[in-house]
Amino acid sequence: MIYLDNNATTPLDPGVADKMCWFLKEHFGNPSSLYPIGRDVKKIINEDREIIAQTLGANRNEIFFTGSGTESDNFAIRGVLDAHPEKNEFITSSIEHPAVMNTAKYLEKNGIKVTYVPVDKYGMIDIDFLKDSITPKTALISIMHANNEIGTIQPIEEISKIAKEHNVFLHTDAVQSFGKIDVDVNKLGVDLLSISAHKIYGPKGIGALYIRKGTKICPLIYGGHQEQEMRPGTENTIGIVGFGEAVRVFRKQGDKDKKRIEKLAEQLKKGIEEIIPHIKFNGHEKKRIKGTLNFSFYGLEAEAILLSLAVKDIYVSTGSACSEGAEETSHVLSAIGLKPEIARSSIRMSLGRFNTEKDIEIVIEELPEIIENLRKISALNIEEY
Ligand code: PLP
Repeated sequence: MIYLDNNATTPLDPGVADKMCWFLKEHFGNPSSLYPIGRDVKKIINEDREIIAQTLGANRNEIFFTGSGTESDNFAIRGVLDAHPEKNEFITSSIEHPAVMNTAKYLEKNGIKVTYVPVDKYGMIDIDFLKDSITPKTALISIMHANNEIGTIQPIEEISKIAKEHNVFLHTDAVQSFGKIDVDVNKLGVDLLSISAHKIYGPKGIGALYIRKGTKICPLIYGGHQEQEMRPGTENTIGIVGFGEAVRVFRKQGDKDKKRIEKLAEQLKKGIEEIIPHIKFNGHEKKRIKGTLNFSFYGLEAEAILLSLAVKDIYVSTGSACSEGAEETSHVLSAIGLKPEIARSSIRMSLGRFNTEKDIEIVIEELPEIIENLRKISALNIEEY
């Protein structure tokens, strides 16, 4: 199998799997229990909280575990809006993940004015538009750090300066950037930041939200005293242990992985661009998560390419996994100005820790033939593009 869909999810790192198995066998205690088997678990999950906090440049008590990146995004956005009833405006971008996009739509239905900042053809947000959109009624700005479909990295530091000048809270969805590039809450200057374990070779169903000390925010759910009463419910202890270990592995080998992934992605990009005609690369050449490659193959439907590759045990994506099948054309590709027929011809290949040079050689060998054969039977005419 050649897995090139690491932005959808990543395989569990073997070291993470070992740690989780050990924990499952040895520890069942409830971290809220006061006797030793509970306290031991509390200590373990707080060590995981600590390593995540350190990696983000945060304090341990600013990290709140959630059930996913999606929940972290909801918590940040709805939580800050709820805590500021005197303000009823929210600013986000037109290329956010559905976790933010659909939260924004929910807010709109509930009387909040939402501004969607447009992006240029590389997926970079229009900073002046953002600046002009801020009013005294703006409670929060939420702009993703790196895009899941095209990898474009937004200038969060610059946005942070603008947010601070106007006294507006800033959230960033760092689900795709954490574990791939430097993510430091102080360098970025954010008040809230979402991450998710399954994008960094950890388990699914565990995320975290960084909330800067002093940020006024309401919980999404109510219950016991866990997570400082901000995210009650008995902790997903096994998930937290997996998340913490995934971060430890990242700290050990993240730089090495990054260099290798970038080199492989560059090889793949070059290979595709040199051999396959009538294509378009989507995303920013430089300010991009380099392991994310998004190409449009004129005249074709992306699903046909995806399925032809799947027959050869090569797995890619047509866009965001969450929106796959649910969306005619990607809102991200539409936002960067692609015509619907070009957007629908687009494939995302996202590389990760376990990809090898051999994987890339095989894809460069197989893909051109697949594209050529599909184009022979395609009803769409390339010349019209
Ligand atoms: N935000 C971004 C940018 C993502 O890519 C994803 C997952 O694809 C999410 C949020 C949602 O994370 P989770 O799958 O943990 O809910």
